[in-house]
Amino acid sequence: MKYSIIPRPVRYDVKDNETVVVSDMTAVNCVRSFLSVGNALSEYLHTRSDAGENEIIISRAKSIAPEGYALYTENGNIHIKASTATGAYYAFVTLKWILMQVKKVDGKKNITGFLIEDKPCYRHRGMMLDECRHFFGKETVKKLIDNMSMLKINVFHWHLADDQGYRIESKVFPLLNEVASKRRYAYLGKRGQDESQPEYGPFYYTHDEIREIVQYAAQRHVRVIPEIDIPGHTTAMVAAYPELSCDGKETDVNVSTGIMPAILCAGNENTYAFLEKLFDEVCPLFQSRYFHIGGDEARYGKWRKCPKCQAKIKDNSLKNEKHLQMYFMGRINEMLRHRGKTCIAWNDCLGDELDKNIICQYWTFQNAVMVKKQAKKREVILSPMLDFYFNYSYGSIPLKKTYKFNEKKKGFRKKGVRVKGIEGELWTEWIDTPEAIEYSLYPRLSALAEVAWVKLEKRNYKDFSERQKFYKLYLRSKGINYYRLDDKTRRKLIPMFSHGKDGKEFKKNEALKKQKN
Ligand SMILES: [Zn+2]
Repeated sequence: MKYSIIPRPVRYDVKDNETVVVSDMTAVNCVRSFLSVGNALSEYLHTRSDAGENEIIISRAKSIAPEGYALYTENGNIHIKASTATGAYYAFVTLKWILMQVKKVDGKKNITGFLIEDKPCYRHRGMMLDECRHFFGKETVKKLIDNMSMLKINVFHWHLADDQGYRIESKVFPLLNEVASKRRYAYLGKRGQDESQPEYGPFYYTHDEIREIVQYAAQRHVRVIPEIDIPGHTTAMVAAYPELSCDGKETDVNVSTGIMPAILCAGNENTYAFLEKLFDEVCPLFQSRYFHIGGDEARYGKWRKCPKCQAKIKDNSLKNEKHLQMYFMGRINEMLRHRGKTCIAWNDCLGDELDKNIICQYWTFQNAVMVKKQAKKREVILSPMLDFYFNYSYGSIPLKKTYKFNEKKKGFRKKGVRVKGIEGELWTEWIDTPEAIEYSLYPRLSALAEVAWVKLEKRNYKDFSERQKFYKLYLRSKGINYYRLDDKTRRKLIPMFSHGKDGKEFKKNEALKKQKN
């Protein structure tokens, strides 16, 4: 019996003639350095204090890759070996998948023997959630982190500042909460033109809530990378503090979608002073050494008309506004470097002059040639929108398309290219409930996990589809609202944005769910 495991382990040999019993009488024997994993495993198995019929032995093996592990059965016992606590934790996750597939008889599970050796292909295996367009709260975030950790996804990229809302408590700049965390109504775009709707917000995470989530994620070996998107996508910040903009004019937090003209003034030294203070407050909340500074879709209209921005261009011998943005990103990078952080930015702002320590996150193919060239100079995270934007309908990005992502064909497997990892994105303009989040992510999150964990040459869609059967049973058992439509129905439902209450695909899925239950 071979069990379904996602992502697929590098090596999985079945020992058909060996059976190992796992019960509450199985003792967990763990080296001191991996005690957190040993304790979690004991808790999971409800291990009794007098346990000792057999053992799960967790030990350290320096030769194993940092996030890798060995998990095998031998003489009636189970062995876990790893060089890091994360590796040991991933062995525990794999063991959980195995145990879930075995029925308990008289309090015991008889599992078929195995030898598993495993390690990830990429170090950065991420998922982003946008909580600016819609806000979901900590329980939804924790559930997402749980589901990510079951797939060995190790980065939660948290998009917390955009045109439609600023979501981090600020004691230094209280208007970021009083003004920027609210907007006139919930719905964005066309649906939003109804003045009778109640105000949306205030919605933001307090410092305590952020620490709680970061801690919760760390226990599951997920690190949290916050994103404060600057200099564009800053309407909410500018609504709170108009002096951050070039013209100082008052504006409202956006209730529409698309690319907005708001931009922080890059010519005014006060903007930098403001950000210094903001980072002083925000950085200590997050343990991760990475910080996302956005940099996408900046519109330069206001910079062109601003005497301060134009003076900055002249004084620093910059060619144009694009170069002013690279100057701006460079200064932000320097600020964050002093606070022990490494910056990540979207690929729109890329250029030869952009500080080479800034990691590039590739989403739009507009400057693909530049990104490939730059990928030899700096690290790159791959999130191309037509493969990994899970807010797009399944009609546009079916499970298979995400799974079949081929970094070699896209030109990211050449010599010297520094791919740090793969990340999925969930923008929430049209996603306004936890059910719609789940529908958009599952099962596509599992394809993302496998692309990020398993080497291209070892990925196999047919084999993955087989393992989807148990994965869907698992999702069902957890009450997760996964996507259930077949391909035939899907092809008729082409619109790209089809999620949330008004989405055709979403509605159809809801109907199908009711029918089947
Ligand atoms: Zn300006």
